[in-house]
Amino acid sequence: MPDFSPEDRMDRALAWADANQEEHLLTQREQARSVGVHEKTLYRWIAGRSVSFTPEEQARIDTAKEVTTRRTSLMIKRIAALTALIPAMLSTTVGVASAHSTPHATQAVVTLTYDASNAGQWAGPIKQAVQNWNDAVHNVHLVPTSTPGSADYVYEATSGWPQATLGPIFPGGNGDVQLGQQAVDEGYDQTRIVAHETGHILGLPDHYSGSCSELMSGHGPGTSCTNAKPDAAEAAQVDTNYAEGVAAVHPHHHQVVIDIWSGRAPTGSH
Ligand SMILES: [Zn+2]
Repeated sequence: MPDFSPEDRMDRALAWADANQEEHLLTQREQARSVGVHEKTLYRWIAGRSVSFTPEEQARIDTAKEVTTRRTSLMIKRIAALTALIPAMLSTTVGVASAHSTPHATQAVVTLTYDASNAGQWAGPIKQAVQNWNDAVHNVHLVPTSTPGSADYVYEATSGWPQATLGPIFPGGNGDVQLGQQAVDEGYDQTRIVAHETGHILGLPDHYSGSCSELMSGHGPGTSCTNAKPDAAEAAQVDTNYAEGVAAVHPHHHQVVIDIWSGRAPTGSH
């Protein structure tokens, strides 16, 4: 990168400020190109390092910065809104078009590996529940691990109530899904149980008062509900959870959600 003189820095910073006084639709990259600099260099200039501006010049630069900040936050909001919207739109059309043509968004898909080697008789339901999630979401993909012991989350058969780590779990994580026999004894569908608990791994909380079309309503709709597919809103929320790919900053909390899959359990006690 050329070593510009302080005068040159000032000229280009002022040119940027002038070009940016109005809210026209130039991206920051285009603005940088318009004054012949790299984007990072532009910001160093704007910061005025080793350059002194007159109060009038500084005012022009400050105004331009405000415009850029306002436009950037608007752009981020628009992108966030689109990210939430696209999966919902896709999930309504995919079913009609083809069950196998799952479109992918442009950002990198997060791949989560799971270990089901200690899940016993839950193998079939796990396979189906995982497929249901993979068919419904685009930003995260679940695959069986090839190296047990280093999976991002595990499924295991237990004798108690089902429970799961509340995600979203990311690669390198250590999520845990306990597939509790008690829920099966109560008459609940195994595939729905797995799909619900997997929803927790993907960052969805419980919503017991929801209808059978939701996975996260869990035991709420009763044992007759065997739906094991997320609805459009649940799929969209998961896609939002993974919208930033593996580069997202993840909080290091570790919360476990225990599900009492029982019609007899008093409402609100879990
Ligand atoms: Zn739950």
